[in-house]
Amino acid sequence: MEEDEGHSLPKWVLLEYKHMLSLAGQGNKVCFTHLSQSSCAAIQKGFESVANSVGTQKSSEATFEATSISILEYMKLQGVPMNRVCLLDPRGSKELSPEDGSEFEWFLFGGILGMSGDDPPRDRTGELRALGFAGRRLGPIQMTTDTALGVTKMIVQDQMTMETIPFVDHPTIKFSKTESVEMPFRYIIKEGEPLLPGGMKQHLYDDLNRGFND
Ligand code: SAM
Repeated sequence: MEEDEGHSLPKWVLLEYKHMLSLAGQGNKVCFTHLSQSSCAAIQKGFESVANSVGTQKSSEATFEATSISILEYMKLQGVPMNRVCLLDPRGSKELSPEDGSEFEWFLFGGILGMSGDDPPRDRTGELRALGFAGRRLGPIQMTTDTALGVTKMIVQDQMTMETIPFVDHPTIKFSKTESVEMPFRYIIKEGEPLLPGGMKQHLYDDLNRGFND
């Protein structure tokens, strides 16, 4: 995570974070590091309200931890050696493969707050690359962070490959005949639709209307 400067977490961030827990699934743990103290508290509270509004099932989700310490401090505390961590890096020299599931134990995703959705990508992941992590790519197109996590899980745990996962690039989300928004990312397709976090479509629609009203 990047420094969030103590602003409260935007709703779309909470929806993506919450989605990460269901994509990682039971038996895994998702850790959000390098957050402000207020964001750590907001995550716990926000997850409950997101779960209430979109009805995610807690029993099938990963557990989570939210902390203000940096990734390197976190690894030190947990005793995680550098060579067991794989950075998911759009500029990685190798594609992630099912075999990486035995080589690595932890999978690290880059910045999200405010900057993660930058289009075109500005290589924010480079800040983590500079720390010396081994990098792996998930194809040439930028994914949302929750999608990148879901795809990583499907490859390293479910032993799928990029070729067997159905994707859609830059989908247009339609709200009505005249209202739609194009998303500048690659998504997994589930039941014929881009797999968005629960509650995200409504949030995008509310945002669109807010934009018009403003
Ligand atoms: N805009 C950021 C940049 O230019 O580095 C990337 C933001 S992306 C929404 C958030 C994170 O998802 C990345 O830091 C990376 O860990 C992961 N990610 C997204 N697309 C990826 C891809 N095609 N290959 C590998 N990792 C990816």
